Amino acid sequence: MNLKDSIEILKGVGPKKIAVLKSIGIQTLFDLLYYFPRRYLDRNFSSTILLKHGENVTLLATVIDSYLAHGKKSRLIVGVKTSNNERISLVFFSGVNYFNHVFKPGMSLVVSGKLEYFRGLQISHPDYEIISGDADEEADLTHVGRIIPLYPTTEALKKDGLDSRGFRRLVKQVLDKIDGKKFSIEEVLPAKAVKKRKLLKRQDAFQEIHFPTTDESLADAKRRFAYEEFYYFNLLMEYKRTERQKIKRKLWPLRKSEGAGKILERLPFELTDDQKTSLEKMKELNGKDIPMAVLLQGDVGSGKTVTALLTAMHYMDNNIQVCMLAPTEVLARQHFQTIQGLLQFTPFARIDLLIGKEKEKPRREKLARLKEGETLLVIGTHSLFQEDVKFSDLGLVIIDEQHKFGVEQRESIRAKGKNPDILAMTATPIPRTLCLTLYGDLQLITIKTKPLGRKPIVTKWITEDKRPAVYNSIKKYLSQGRQCFIIYPLIEESEKVDLESCIESYERLRMFEFKDYKIGLLHGRMTSAEKDSVMHAFKANEIQLLVTTTVVEVGIDVPNATVLVIEHADRFGISQLHQLRGRVGRGEHESFCILLTPDKVSEDAVIRIEAMVRTNDGFELAEVDLKLRGPGELLGLRQSGLPDFKIGDLEKDESIIIESRQDAVEFGNIGDMEKLELRTRFTEGRILFPN
Ligand code: ADP
Ligand code: MG
Repeated sequence: MNLKDSIEILKGVGPKKIAVLKSIGIQTLFDLLYYFPRRYLDRNFSSTILLKHGENVTLLATVIDSYLAHGKKSRLIVGVKTSNNERISLVFFSGVNYFNHVFKPGMSLVVSGKLEYFRGLQISHPDYEIISGDADEEADLTHVGRIIPLYPTTEALKKDGLDSRGFRRLVKQVLDKIDGKKFSIEEVLPAKAVKKRKLLKRQDAFQEIHFPTTDESLADAKRRFAYEEFYYFNLLMEYKRTERQKIKRKLWPLRKSEGAGKILERLPFELTDDQKTSLEKMKELNGKDIPMAVLLQGDVGSGKTVTALLTAMHYMDNNIQVCMLAPTEVLARQHFQTIQGLLQFTPFARIDLLIGKEKEKPRREKLARLKEGETLLVIGTHSLFQEDVKFSDLGLVIIDEQHKFGVEQRESIRAKGKNPDILAMTATPIPRTLCLTLYGDLQLITIKTKPLGRKPIVTKWITEDKRPAVYNSIKKYLSQGRQCFIIYPLIEESEKVDLESCIESYERLRMFEFKDYKIGLLHGRMTSAEKDSVMHAFKANEIQLLVTTTVVEVGIDVPNATVLVIEHADRFGISQLHQLRGRVGRGEHESFCILLTPDKVSEDAVIRIEAMVRTNDGFELAEVDLKLRGPGELLGLRQSGLPDFKIGDLEKDESIIIESRQDAVEFGNIGDMEKLELRTRFTEGRILFPN
């Protein structure tokens, strides 16, 4: 007997349960053991709180009776008693017949819901969990321990007997067999690590995570599993890193770049110290014979593009190809134009732009030039991932706004070269541990300071009823020669309506409020040529006021634009607001960001908007964002390629991440992955930049 046996050997598991369990990924005893409780109920829990009407409560209660009440509408009333001997009615208006069969006198339940007062305290349609069916089972449970596991379940699972109780019985069968020495659970961590970090043995940890003896042992079990997850994850990352470094580069070191020098001469500004240091660091890294992998982090407007271009010149001057990925077409075009401008007088300026909607013939020509190695720098969007895009010698991949790309996409572009260098750029600061975990061997380089002379952007929160006043101040700045953006939210779920309201407002502003000004419209549904000509006109100050959607969210650079109005600012997330705000404050003039919202907004929106008003600092804002949304959402972890850690918490387990990483380097052996049943989960969970 072993853990890989099918769950069908368990009592009470027939074909029906097998099918249901399979649908949630449980086929073997091992899968079942890894179905960890969602939360726990402490039996010592007593409701000494005075039960008050209007409060949300979670209570341990025993069923006393139940009856059907017939009135205008029949309903089921289940009377329960709390551990304080207070009587509460659970009331069900729908599913009466079903629930009538669920509750039996003597059952103990955990009930949560809102207490209402109607001839006594009641909760309508509470969330409930059956803890035990009768006194016998109750005794059984007490035997198990005082902390009771509650498993994740759904109404559908419950119908097949898989409520918390159902899971508990199954898991207990497996653990009892282990207890009875029918089989044992192998340790998968190196003994040295277990000893050094005082970890629970794996077998004990399984016992404790399902049926904890004490709060402390539960915490130990959780720590052990978190460690296990991070240990193997780090081991795999370390392995990939060393494998990758075995591949030596062929054309190193790079010759000194003349192109970079020429560009520096042409720049209308001096590089900031941080830009210079970043360049030096990258030069040092690409002077080595192992591939470079850099994450260049710098707040919006800190000047990452130039830094990347100067680095790219070193490759191009050596006839090595560079590709630069941008998340939107508008941004790709802007990069293309800026870079084309800077490269005008260098003899190396063989660059191309490759975007989605392009005519067959020019596209074919571009692809041919790229494949022949004639084009040295190609700038593009997602279109670069396509299979027909081939390089002759791709040496550097630059990924702008890298968090906007999924891991598979980043991978597919990397695979177009022979282990090319990577320069990923982001304005979303990433906490250090996350960075370690996520990007393993990515070298983090940060541009902290912004170019000199940038004034902070004055940010104001204004309610929509004061819109006329906002329009008046826009006019003031327009007549001083400045330019302005008005941004409308456009979210996928309500895209059509949002777009219509953006276009409508544009029409209204054009005909009325701003009829004496040059006004333009830009949104994602326009053709490339249309977008191009609008952006061009805006850059040339032929458009003074640009009404637009979030297509301008990232990267757009028009230094003369100094006023940015965001309509319905409450509908945007912090990082998006900050990115959008970064569209202004790019030149020497004082800039303004106006956040317009309805009179009433949600609590979270208040926190977001107040943070925006309070600070211009992207790092500080990222922290607020992290608190509001957690790391998963913030970094788009779902698409980051990180496996989905069951117990490990990227935010809270900083020390475990660091320790397990050290241990993986010190004691690790990639062969150990074999004995770990988790292997598939990790290898299927795609990881950034695998080989
Ligand atoms: P981001 O880091 O957000 O991508 P960009 O690279 O778009 O920022 O740079 C923002 C603006 O700052 C651009 O107009 C760029 O030309 C300008 N810039 C970059 N470096 C400097 C500098 N050292 N001094 C002054 N302006 C700079
Ligand atoms: Mg940028």
